[in-house]
Amino acid sequence: MTEIPRDHPRYESLITREKIVEGVRMGYTSLQGLVAQGRGEAFDYLIGEKTTESAAVAERAAVAHILLAGNPIISVNGNTAALVPESMVALADITGATLEVNLFHRSDARVHQITELLKSHGASRVLGGKGDKRLDLSHDRAIVDEEGIFSADVVLVPLEDGDRCQKLVEMGKTVIAIDLNPLSRTSLSATVTIVDNVTRALQNMTLFARDMKQQSRQSLLEVVGTYDNSKVISDALYAIQERLKQQSEERGIRWI
Ligand code: ATP
Ligand code: MG
Repeated sequence: MTEIPRDHPRYESLITREKIVEGVRMGYTSLQGLVAQGRGEAFDYLIGEKTTESAAVAERAAVAHILLAGNPIISVNGNTAALVPESMVALADITGATLEVNLFHRSDARVHQITELLKSHGASRVLGGKGDKRLDLSHDRAIVDEEGIFSADVVLVPLEDGDRCQKLVEMGKTVIAIDLNPLSRTSLSATVTIVDNVTRALQNMTLFARDMKQQSRQSLLEVVGTYDNSKVISDALYAIQERLKQQSEERGIRWI
């Protein structure tokens, strides 16, 4: 990896970029994953490269859904394998969720490689290798495990593709998306939309899960019941607008 000086003002963002590049070198991440990361970086810049209050509300609701679920699944793709393997393993461990590898650019070798990566970070069980069911979609993200995503009641899909997210919702599942673009099809169709960088979101969710695991079922149900996803999306758009306004004023540029 290229050495990034600790005092660089955009240190976190550059480290994330290095991890994705390393993911491509190692074979976990596809070249298309680099482009997706670029789009994410642009939205992260607009949102201020921090977790907004509203994103934290979505992260708590997501954790409550996972803790209440009968068969919660965390879907792992090439980008999340490169960026947050340890956080995904930790979140699965604390909440009792199962990890499932699911790739847009699927090959058995890549599924195996990512499975081994997760195991090297301590995962005890990783699904995705069987691929014994298909969702009604024309690309390889349709391939899922029967005991995993196919039968899951709650699915966490960091960096999901819009049509698969819609399909999972149509199947009656609770879908939690992590997507920095509040207006993507994924964000607009998910049950819980976390507009935050996957690197921050998974770390926060792991911390929240440690605490929320001690809470009663009743109080988790309350978190889920009072949650309003359209407000969370509106808040994300408002945060982007306010950030643009603040940045232009700081630079002496008139805000329209
Ligand atoms: P959709 O298919 O939902 O309409 P899209 O086609 O714009 O979305 P995809 O290429 O399918 O997007 O997926 C990439 C999405 O993931 C983008 O919306 C991008 O903002 C988001 N993204 C990329 N990197 C990250 C990251 N590190 N954290 C959170 N979101 C990210
Ligand atoms: Mg897409």
